[in-house]
Amino acid sequence: MSRPPFDALNLAAHVGDDPDAVAANRELVRRMLGADDLVVLTAAHGADVVSTDRGGPAPEADAVIVRSPGLGVLALGADCVTLALAGDDDTCVAAVHCGWRGLVSDVVGGALRALADLGAGPGAVVVGPAICGACYPVPPERIVEVRDSCAPAVAAAAVVRCPDGQPGLDVRAGVLAQLAEWGADGSIITHLGGCTAEDADLFSHRRHGRTGRQGLAIVRHA
Ligand SMILES: [Zn+2]
Repeated sequence: MSRPPFDALNLAAHVGDDPDAVAANRELVRRMLGADDLVVLTAAHGADVVSTDRGGPAPEADAVIVRSPGLGVLALGADCVTLALAGDDDTCVAAVHCGWRGLVSDVVGGALRALADLGAGPGAVVVGPAICGACYPVPPERIVEVRDSCAPAVAAAAVVRCPDGQPGLDVRAGVLAQLAEWGADGSIITHLGGCTAEDADLFSHRRHGRTGRQGLAIVRHA
């Protein structure tokens, strides 16, 4: 329902889009999900994991766990990685937002630890579109931060060399390495979409600056 530069299905209310259009877009997603209500993650660029059983904006966190059937949870991104997780005991779902800060603070591991505290392992994982490493050059000090903070296998997967020779970060590859540490391998992982900076059908903050956010949503049906 949004107009340029937010067309068509912008799901973020904080980017300057018409609030009525955003609400209508979110309502479309809720209906597509078959959910009664929708929790929308607020990207805080940290590692906090929260649980909620109410719709509307989520508490400030990059990972939200929902146990109520019919309550969908929506993560937003425009280059950052979005993930939807379903517990292997069919009692909980989670949505996660992870940019480079989330990679460094291991928000994905935090979400899986919170699921484990509820007695659930990763049953299914969907990884949304994200910027690829070749399109995401970063300053050398950020590479140092990733190598200092992340497990060696995670840093090895995430740190790449861009075509122009600059260091780059492939956050999605790092996230996949973090998932692997929790036993979530390719057999339970579904990938949606490619590189946000290269695909004109996706929102990319890197490519466009002022733009919308796509989303990845999950709901547990009763
Ligand atoms: Zn790319």
